[in-house]
Amino acid sequence: MAWIALAYLVAGVFFILALRGLSSPATSRTGNRFGMIGMAVAVVTTLVTHMPTILHRPGFPNAPPSCLLSECMVAERLDVFSLGEILIAIAIGAIIGITIARRIAMTAMPELVAAFHSLVGLAAVLVGWAAYLNPGAFGLLTDTGIGAVSKVEMGLGIAIGAITFSGSVIAFAKLSGRMSGSPILLPARHVINLGTLAAIIVLTALFAMASGHEETMPLIIALTVLAFIIGFLLIIPIGGADMPVVVSMLNSYSGWAAAAMGFTLGNTAMIITGALVGSSGAILSYIMCRAMNRSFISVIAGGFGADDSAAGGEAREARPYKQGSADDAAFMLEQADKVIIIPGYGMAVAQAQHALREMTDILEEKGVEVKFAIHPVAGRMPGHMNVLLAEASVDYDKVFELEDINSEFAQADVAFIIGANDVVNPAAKTDKSSPIYGMPVFDVDKAKQVFFIKRSMGGVGYAGVDNDVFYMDQTMMLLSDAKKMVEEIVKALD
Ligand code: NDP
Repeated sequence: MAWIALAYLVAGVFFILALRGLSSPATSRTGNRFGMIGMAVAVVTTLVTHMPTILHRPGFPNAPPSCLLSECMVAERLDVFSLGEILIAIAIGAIIGITIARRIAMTAMPELVAAFHSLVGLAAVLVGWAAYLNPGAFGLLTDTGIGAVSKVEMGLGIAIGAITFSGSVIAFAKLSGRMSGSPILLPARHVINLGTLAAIIVLTALFAMASGHEETMPLIIALTVLAFIIGFLLIIPIGGADMPVVVSMLNSYSGWAAAAMGFTLGNTAMIITGALVGSSGAILSYIMCRAMNRSFISVIAGGFGADDSAAGGEAREARPYKQGSADDAAFMLEQADKVIIIPGYGMAVAQAQHALREMTDILEEKGVEVKFAIHPVAGRMPGHMNVLLAEASVDYDKVFELEDINSEFAQADVAFIIGANDVVNPAAKTDKSSPIYGMPVFDVDKAKQVFFIKRSMGGVGYAGVDNDVFYMDQTMMLLSDAKKMVEEIVKALD
């Protein structure tokens, strides 16, 4: 029916507006609202589309006396579900989603995103299996059984869904610290991965050509199991600095899984949404790879280029460093003409952004120029620092991307590192065996003075490597919780 296509198109336009809105912190709230409206339009349209079939179900009081073939087929679709059951399922999902979203700490967001991606993947696998086991209910039954094209869509949806599921579970375990973040490199992993991928493609082709449950069942089982295994194998060798790319790549996979299922179900909204999520996730992964000087193919191929020697953390030798107090830092900050602040994951953990904003205001009142430098992978999710600074009402025009500000460190009096570590580690430029080698980092060593806030000399960044910046002549370590230290600096400045 034309109005259904139109309604799904409207939902698609809202999703595009949502993506556009989310591209800048200033418009992201509006973008989110557009996304919610689009999803509401898509869900309501899908429910309304099926409403008449509920009423026309054979046996219903107002069902037509002779059930037309198309009505019978559609009516059969809802044999299992009633509108009431669907609404109860939506309500349960909404309550769980709202509760988790309200409780989740900003720092745990990436692992939550990974967990949610795993659910999208699992849903695609379950829909694929449901369509295989009961094709009539999905309108997929022809005179000769399920059509070959439908079986290809089903096979692809199940395979991408299963890869997304197991890959996301591993990403969740790594990001939440339940599993080591270091790469786990199996011998001959590239041969194993390529062989498994080839087997999945062959099995999908055989599945499309086979007929009857006896022939197809072993193929679809083997396909599902291999896809779960390859998802696991692809993510375990990825470690350290590549995890952000993996999160956005799994986001992309979940979109493609949904799009493949959209074809199986003949649902335009799912195809549009899946393609939008799939392509935007792929573009984001590509942009992040470029920002980190990584090859996209090497990251998605799982640990290509990851040197086996870089897998384990090295023992760290004790080296001399200078430690200072909040009073020392306040005194030098006041004397400075130009200060560049580099926030990182520790600022998010400590929730120091509000105190930092207060410090910035006082320094500016004293005539000091203050800028914020944001690395594309600072924190634990894309845009993590931007969100926190926006929450503390830091002006967007004081916030700069790596490539726009890196040359300014040479003119800065102070580089103020707060809870960042990997993103300022010079090993990324000099040490070929380092897991972060090749990632562009801030040239903080060019600033006249460096303040480095972290809790102890024992702690390391996400990649688990030592940082030469701690031991430079011009570095003063401010060892404390970030929020506590900045509050003390603010007091001292006052
Ligand atoms: P890092 O993880 O490298 O370093 C965090 C620093 O914060 C450590 O020095 C830690 O030291 C310190 N810290 C932790 N808690 C506190 C606290 N309460 N107060 C003060 N300091 C604290 O952070 P970066 O932001 O520099 O780098 C991000 C890393 O995470 C990169 O390797 C990136 O690849 C990776 N990553 C990024 C994702 C993204 O999408 N942005 C996703 C997944 C991973 P100490 O413990 O001693 O306090």
